[in-house]
Amino acid sequence: MDHFSLVDGAMHCEGVPLSVIAEAVGTPVYVYSTATLKRHARVFREGLAGAGDVHLAYAIKANPNLAVLRVMADAGYGADVVSGGELARALAAGIPASDVVFSGVGKTVTELTTALEAGLGQFNLELEEEGVVLAGLAAARGLVANATLRVNPDVDAGTHAKISTGKRENKFGVPIDQAPAIFGRLAGLPGLALRGVAIHIGSQLSDLAPLEAAYRRVGELVTELRGLGFPIERVDLGGGLGVPYREGDVLPSPAEYGAMVARATKDWGVRLMFEPGRVIAGNAGVLLTKVIWVKPGAINPYVIVDAAMNDLARPAMYDAWHDFRAVHPTGERMVANIAGPVCESGDTFAMGRDIDAVKSGDLAIFRTAGAYGATMASTYNSRALVPEVLVDGDRFAVVADRILPETILAAERIPEWLTPGD
Ligand SMILES: *Cc1c(COP(=O)(O)O)cnc(C)c1O
Repeated sequence: MDHFSLVDGAMHCEGVPLSVIAEAVGTPVYVYSTATLKRHARVFREGLAGAGDVHLAYAIKANPNLAVLRVMADAGYGADVVSGGELARALAAGIPASDVVFSGVGKTVTELTTALEAGLGQFNLELEEEGVVLAGLAAARGLVANATLRVNPDVDAGTHAKISTGKRENKFGVPIDQAPAIFGRLAGLPGLALRGVAIHIGSQLSDLAPLEAAYRRVGELVTELRGLGFPIERVDLGGGLGVPYREGDVLPSPAEYGAMVARATKDWGVRLMFEPGRVIAGNAGVLLTKVIWVKPGAINPYVIVDAAMNDLARPAMYDAWHDFRAVHPTGERMVANIAGPVCESGDTFAMGRDIDAVKSGDLAIFRTAGAYGATMASTYNSRALVPEVLVDGDRFAVVADRILPETILAAERIPEWLTPGD
């Protein structure tokens, strides 16, 4: 459920007509609903009520906007970060370092050091050598780094190949059968407290079965590790729960997910940790855009909108579907392709789709754009970096400015040796 709906024929976010935001801020612009973020944070937490001791770390990469992070911090969430930049955001939003989990396959020594000195809650190690390096950095500072070892359970998440992370051939984690030996070599290192294991098998999972299969393998590993004398206190189960992108899509609810977790982890006796991203932010945002032209096409007309693949990369990157709606629908329909102005055929949001009829100058939205939307935006084609707006009831604020092409141009320079006439 979200808070984007038609009121008197006009699409609103909570109490604010989207046309008011377009007028004030221009288009394209991302619009987020505070009520939806809060609702998702609550429903996810409630779904896990039967799962015992739980730590929730919002996966910042889904939507790292500072204001969004503040909403999540106020909802009692920690953060899962995958870079030093994301760690800085989490701290700037007021999330305590002790509630931050650092994931990521390529943490640099600089990032590890900064995180250690900030008092980071947990490092999810991706390889043995990272554990050795981290232990050395911590011991040299008289610190002890809390860590888990990320394992790769070799489970097919059944999602898009580019967002599958738990297959043997993926770059993430250590092969699950090598975990006991790696524990043996890392567990005694001064500076390192290896407290458990972590997994994350992929994103936009539409079926709980692969998650349950992965959790069962982790359960077996926990038993094996304890049998070898390693005290396992934490298991980080990652994120990955999918969201409906198309009207009528049915996905596992947080309650169904929580019931599965409770079942699969019943005897573990650990602190369970979760890293939800998309399920929190996905349906809490839309990309608001304006139709520039309706251009006749060979088969169907092209609706050319002022948003493009640089603003919302998911269709070009993952063949993703985003529902398209007119902000003031007339009730008429049309079959059209929807594309942006970027000079790539991949800059196409939909082909031959049955949509609300629109004409030049109309406002429209791409729904379910709150996760992996603005954060993947670029300035390709020397377009502006898309701004973001947060709505709360009947008020709204610009929470990220539109970065204009001239600002980006001002950060570039021509070296003197290219100056003509020298
Ligand atoms: C991306 C990521 C997440 C969040 O995934 P969602 O599908 O958005 O829930 C969680 N943990 C790790 C390690 C990730 O890389």
